[in-house]
Amino acid sequence: MREMRKNTRKTVLVAGGAGFVGSHLCDALLADGHAVICADSFLTGAAANVAALENHPRFRLIEHDICQPLKIREPIDEIFNLACAASPPRYQANPAHTLMTSVVGTANLLELAEKNGATFLQASTSEVYGDPQEHPQNESYRGHVNCTGPRACYDEGKRAAETLCFDFLRAGRVDARVSRIFNTYGPRMQSDDGRIVSNFIIQALHGKPLTVYGSGEQTRSFCYVSDLIEGLLALMRVKPNPRMPVNLGNPGEFTVLELARLVQAHIPTGSPLQYVPLPEDDPQRRRPDISRARALLGWEPKVLLEEGLVRTIEWFSALAVEGEARRGR
Ligand code: NAD
Ligand code: UDP
Repeated sequence: MREMRKNTRKTVLVAGGAGFVGSHLCDALLADGHAVICADSFLTGAAANVAALENHPRFRLIEHDICQPLKIREPIDEIFNLACAASPPRYQANPAHTLMTSVVGTANLLELAEKNGATFLQASTSEVYGDPQEHPQNESYRGHVNCTGPRACYDEGKRAAETLCFDFLRAGRVDARVSRIFNTYGPRMQSDDGRIVSNFIIQALHGKPLTVYGSGEQTRSFCYVSDLIEGLLALMRVKPNPRMPVNLGNPGEFTVLELARLVQAHIPTGSPLQYVPLPEDDPQRRRPDISRARALLGWEPKVLLEEGLVRTIEWFSALAVEGEARRGR
């Protein structure tokens, strides 16, 4: 797969490239020989995520909010739109901006793609299925979203962004593709961003209680970031355009309590569990049906949860040691 991707050097815009997933995507694109322009407002991302790329001759970082139109001098071959806060507390902090990022921001980037004749990939989400009444979720399921609840700014924004992509595609304006990403984890998640994997690891490393929301019986399917990056690249490059959304996620399904116990086992600091109220509209079950990704892209995740979790714990531990050393200086 990698050899095929290297064939021609492209100029690729990664919106949201300083975020968790975006920074890994920038790394992979540069490793494949492409030129990368990363546009990010640093709302939830961090310059530290792309600091190692700062002096790379094929990398350029632009501070920009995609709610404003973006002007780029050089011709662009591909646009990945990953710009959007992804963690519930973060995207709910300024819900109107979250919604506008997905709607106005996506429209701005689709117009940029049209001007350049660039292929476009939208990072959509399993949240378009809401609190699903079908299990596992395949792409033909139309979802169960509360359009007035606290998660709607994200869920409905992403649904509208998908609509825009398929409108531009149907009109022959842009070669647009849509990935529906399920919970993804790994190094470079922000330690304070509030998602379950980073919360549990940070809490356990400090010997603090692991905050289980609700009964902990709700499920999620966790995909390691390197697997997701392979899927995004495959979807961007596959010919012909699938003209339908594609789920990207790991079908292994775990309860929140199972994840908590795994973290406790790998970080034996004696952290107990602390039960706190379940946030409103929290989906009860989530597992991707990835038959379409398997058939169209020949893609499936390779990294098991325990293996990915150990790598992520190592990364957060190294970060903590670095922080201690800096404070001690
Ligand atoms: P993240 O919050 O780490 O990254 C998002 C990046 O977008 C950040 O760098 C942020 O500063 C930037 N951003 C936000 N609003 C912006 C705006 N208006 N203009 C420019 N930049 C802006 O989140 P992530 O986990 O890396 O997610 C990346 C993308 O993948 C998001 O679009 C998210 O919705 C999608 N996604 C992620 C997951 C997951 O589990 N990680 C699951 C489903 C979908
Ligand atoms: N969750 C939890 N404790 C935490 C953070 C999250 O129990 O400290 C739960 C949350 O209620 C949800 C699941 O873990 O059921 C995944 O939450 P996350 O915010 O990571 O992603 P999302 O809800 O968007 O799938």
